[in-house]
Amino acid sequence: MKYCKKCLYPDTKPQLIFNDKGVCSACENMKKKEMIDWNEKKKEFGLILEKYRNRDGKNYDCIIPVSGGKDSTYQTYVMKKEYGLNPLVVNFHPLDQTNIGKKNLDNLKKIGVDCIEFSPNPIIYQKLAKYGLTELGDFQWPEHLGIFTIPVQIAVKYNIPLIMWGENPQLEYGQPTDIDKDTILDREWNEKNGGYFLDKIKPQDMTKYGFSISDLKPYLYPSDDEIKQVGVTGIFLGSYHKWDIFKQLEFVKTIGFSENNEIMEGTYNKWENLDVYFTVFHDYFKFLKYGFGRTTDHVSIEIRYGRISREDGIELVKKYDGKIPKKYLKEFLQAADISEKEFHSICDKFTNKELFLTDNSGNLIKDEQGNLKLKNQVC
Ligand SMILES: [Zn+2]
Repeated sequence: MKYCKKCLYPDTKPQLIFNDKGVCSACENMKKKEMIDWNEKKKEFGLILEKYRNRDGKNYDCIIPVSGGKDSTYQTYVMKKEYGLNPLVVNFHPLDQTNIGKKNLDNLKKIGVDCIEFSPNPIIYQKLAKYGLTELGDFQWPEHLGIFTIPVQIAVKYNIPLIMWGENPQLEYGQPTDIDKDTILDREWNEKNGGYFLDKIKPQDMTKYGFSISDLKPYLYPSDDEIKQVGVTGIFLGSYHKWDIFKQLEFVKTIGFSENNEIMEGTYNKWENLDVYFTVFHDYFKFLKYGFGRTTDHVSIEIRYGRISREDGIELVKKYDGKIPKKYLKEFLQAADISEKEFHSICDKFTNKELFLTDNSGNLIKDEQGNLKLKNQVC
């Protein structure tokens, strides 16, 4: 593993590119972001909104996909209060929603919006989640699909062409695409950049495993024809408004957004991934597959925003990244309907053995807590 010279992203991170000076594309894009004329972008944005604004008030002006996190609250506030739009907010209801997630979603609605909360069939969801865990190493697979499909399905059904997504992942996390051109989130974008659509198995393929198309409805992307008929267009607010998660976090707290009381397992902060219990397991599998966890993401963001030094970031990564989640393990095993032993063998199945220390017979070396050790620790 090789690490970015500026932040702590490793070269194992999918779709990240390093330049010849050893700097990653996320850091490079951060520089580009500073050079963008954001006033010009705002003007451009105003023109786009005028095109989609519903003149007679009989329909909503746009859809905002929301989780109940800080970004959703910010997006909803900006669209409703700054631009005076009447958005329909759409939430794919995760089955592992936390109390604080529910509270923040309720608070978001009080900005003054109608909301569709889509609750998927829990029996099908559970089966898909188990498939996700054992075959893809991602128990939240159905949730990750649903948050991208349900808003598009609702856009088609309600005839609302504009979908307003939040941060632009190219600008924030450095996927190597053209900032000026790749501002539209559509099927092509999903297939190119949306990790959950890149998996070796697509939701429609699940009919091979005894699911009917009707079971899979919430997880299927609408057809090109349906999308064309309504003219569905997804854009990122972060392509037109200079995204600053820390300023935005301070702001949403003034309008009722709650942080966690304690730090989240797997990282050192209280402000992200508050809305679902099992994200920590998703992050742990990411560590097993790519050798970095949520702490690396968080410190890399903070380094890019100039809030902490790279050295402090390294200390945090050493302290928090890559530990087996313990806090909700019992609930997780229950939800996945597996024993702890099965859990560990699934973990081993998805561990990239190239990245971790092994003994002479090729077995993974674990400490007394069961944690692995990277061959190349960040430094
Ligand atoms: Zn970097």
